[in-house]
Amino acid sequence: MSNTERTFIAVKPDGVHRGLVGKIIARFEERGFKLVALKQLTASKAHLEVHYQDLKDKPFFPSLIEYMSSGPIVAMVWQGLDVVKQGRVMLGATNPLASAPGTIRGDFAIQTGRNICHGSDAVDSANREIAHWFKQEEINDYASPFINSWVYE
Ligand code: GDP
Ligand code: MG
Repeated sequence: MSNTERTFIAVKPDGVHRGLVGKIIARFEERGFKLVALKQLTASKAHLEVHYQDLKDKPFFPSLIEYMSSGPIVAMVWQGLDVVKQGRVMLGATNPLASAPGTIRGDFAIQTGRNICHGSDAVDSANREIAHWFKQEEINDYASPFINSWVYE
C-alpha cells in the first residue's frame, strides 16, 4: 500500500455506448487518483480470454467474452494510495442490484452482464492486468506536485 499503487480500470463496451466514459473518469480524478495510462481499443476474444482466465469454467464465460469483445472499451491505469481496494469500492458489487447508490454500478447499471466497468480485485491481479493491457512505454510515470501536496498530507 503506497501512493504509487496502481490498478487497471476499464469502461466496458456498454459504458462506452452509453456515454459514461467521462463520468467514470471524473470520479477517479475528483477523488484525487492520478491517471497514468488511457486508450480506447476493441479487444480480441483471445486477449479477453487471458484477462478473464480465472473465470473460464463459469457458465457465463462465453457470453462475457462476446460482450467484452463486442465494441470498444476504454482501458486505464489509475495510481494512488490503496487505489486497488478503493477502485473496487467506487465500482460497487459485481451485481449492480447489490451495489450501493453512489457507486458507479449502483448509479449506472442494473444487470451483472452489463455492469459497465472493470476494476482489478487485488494488487497482484492489478499488476498482471496492467502488463496484459499496456506496454511499459504507454504508462506515464510523471510527477504531480499538486496531488502530492494537496491530496496527501
Ligand atoms: P468483477 O470483478 O466485479 O467484475 O466480477 P468477476 O470477476 O466475478 O466477473 C467478471 C465479470 O463477469 C463481471 O463484471 C460481469 O461482467 C461478468 N459476470 C460475473 N458473474 C456473472 C454472472 O453470474 N452472469 C453474467 N451474465 N455475467 C457475470
Ligand atoms: Mg473480477
